[in-house]
Amino acid sequence: MSGFPNIPTPVGGARAPVVEARGLVKSYLSGEKRLGVLAGIDLTVGEGETVGISGESGSGKSTLLNLLAGLDAPDAGAVTWGGRVEMSAARRATYLGMVFQAYYLLPELTAWDNVLLAARMAGGVDRAVKTRATELLAAVGLAERGHHVPAMLSGGERQRVALARALINRPALLVADEPTGNLDERTGEVVIDLLLRLTRETGAALVLVTHNPAHVARCERQLHLHQGRFE
Ligand code: ADP
Ligand code: MG
Repeated sequence: MSGFPNIPTPVGGARAPVVEARGLVKSYLSGEKRLGVLAGIDLTVGEGETVGISGESGSGKSTLLNLLAGLDAPDAGAVTWGGRVEMSAARRATYLGMVFQAYYLLPELTAWDNVLLAARMAGGVDRAVKTRATELLAAVGLAERGHHVPAMLSGGERQRVALARALINRPALLVADEPTGNLDERTGEVVIDLLLRLTRETGAALVLVTHNPAHVARCERQLHLHQGRFE
């Protein structure tokens, strides 16, 4: 597994868990009231596994992904990544790749620099990283577009840049929050094809949140979030 330093070694032939959530409870204070969102979520995602999560708008999908990414803390329960509870910004930069509905590219940077920024934040850019950035931009069909800023790219192209950025540090886990939510159906298919193919090729695990049942069905495991729980 030399190419994937973040991916834990399987124990006894089973897939080692990349992320493990136990009893996650989360609520938000909304004025005087407390709004319960997650009511006890258990989830284990193994090395290289793909999990699709659906649920109505407001059911807590983004809340759950934020907890799985260590960006927010649960009220109760715990998340471990590769068996460890610690998730610093430095560890997150290499352990996790994230793809969002609204792309979140930096508008003043070219596609190439958006991809490399993620590597820079994770420790540095050397020749191997530049080669990987070139390969990833080619893999998402943007070999000729690296010098373009996001405003010069279509929505689908922006999301493909975001995908390359998410994979540049060889993350053990990719989380994608409605990555096709802003795209038309055909463009969305292209993005999902790439997301699943590159996830498989890099050995990353994937947690994909989407409204699209066909996209959920393409994951190895399907979960539906309803009233704070998986059903
Ligand atoms: P989904 O991604 O499934 O649409 P979210 O996880 O974004 O759902 O939100 C779940 C519920 O929590 C919604 O009712 C939303 O309004 C509420 N919520 C989300 N984030 C916050 C926040 N930071 N403060 C207060 N309420 C929030
Ligand atoms: Mg959401």
